[in-house]
Amino acid sequence: MIPLDYAAVNTQTIDAPWLSANAVQLNVLRLDKIHDIISGNKFFKLKYYLQEAQQQHATTIATFGGAWSNHIAATAYACKLANISCVGIIRGEEPATPSLTLQQAQQHGMKIIYVSRQEYKDKNALMNKHPGWYFIPEGGFGQTGAKGASEILSSAIDHDKYSHIIAAVGTGTMLAGIINSAQQHQHIIGISSMKGNTQLHEDVRALTAAAVATFEINHDYHFGGYGKHPPELINFINKTYEAHRLPLDIVYTGKTFYAIQHMVEENAFAAGSKLLMIHSGGLQGNRSLPAQVLAF
Ligand SMILES: *Cc1c(COP(=O)(O)O)cnc(C)c1O
Repeated sequence: MIPLDYAAVNTQTIDAPWLSANAVQLNVLRLDKIHDIISGNKFFKLKYYLQEAQQQHATTIATFGGAWSNHIAATAYACKLANISCVGIIRGEEPATPSLTLQQAQQHGMKIIYVSRQEYKDKNALMNKHPGWYFIPEGGFGQTGAKGASEILSSAIDHDKYSHIIAAVGTGTMLAGIINSAQQHQHIIGISSMKGNTQLHEDVRALTAAAVATFEINHDYHFGGYGKHPPELINFINKTYEAHRLPLDIVYTGKTFYAIQHMVEENAFAAGSKLLMIHSGGLQGNRSLPAQVLAF
């Protein structure tokens, strides 16, 4: 249904002194290259929700998100391709000018409804208002999203050879899918983009009933909290782009790559470790920055 360009997905080998000095290898699975709009993990997480909506002959898909949400952008475009009308329920009052992300979603046919932060908290009440709509949970969180995300690893060549798989965490849906599909010898590390969201471990557990791989969630690299992007992070993203031609985003993958470099430098991985970072795509957050802050 969604045209996935698997050929465009590949792993990029990172060559850097901080890796060779510690005898650690790092490859990055470039899911950001799958599609411009349904980028990265969103493609995988949406796959089975869309299938289910079509099986139920739903005429409208609705979901939730913030003004710069990759999930909203991806859902809008996926629904356009699937020819299903869609609604984005957005947190916060309607601004004078919608964000670029929401403008684009509207161009793709998404109807935008703004609700107050208070109303936004009660998803059940919002869903009960529209019993005929097929609702995708915020961020695609749930078993259906995790099922799609369990297909991420197999898109990486020789994925069994890695000792550690490292990915950004928002809702934890992607991480759950990766854990469910990993091998017993692999250790999965999630880097939380939020400050002190200790609920995440349980959320991921709830989606990983029969998992064999071990996992941990690291809370040390939030840079002040979700969506926060101090100059240190911006500089790091620009330097990484300069060194490796690897475009990262300020909400998720920038923090994850920073975490990996920092952990390698701190000797967190034994010599000979083979790391795979999932570049989960989603560059929408970067659009919230003024032009020229980022080098790409
Ligand atoms: C949405 C998103 C995530 C978070 O995925 P979860 O499944 O919610 O944990 C991570 N990285 C990027 C780039 C995203 O867009």
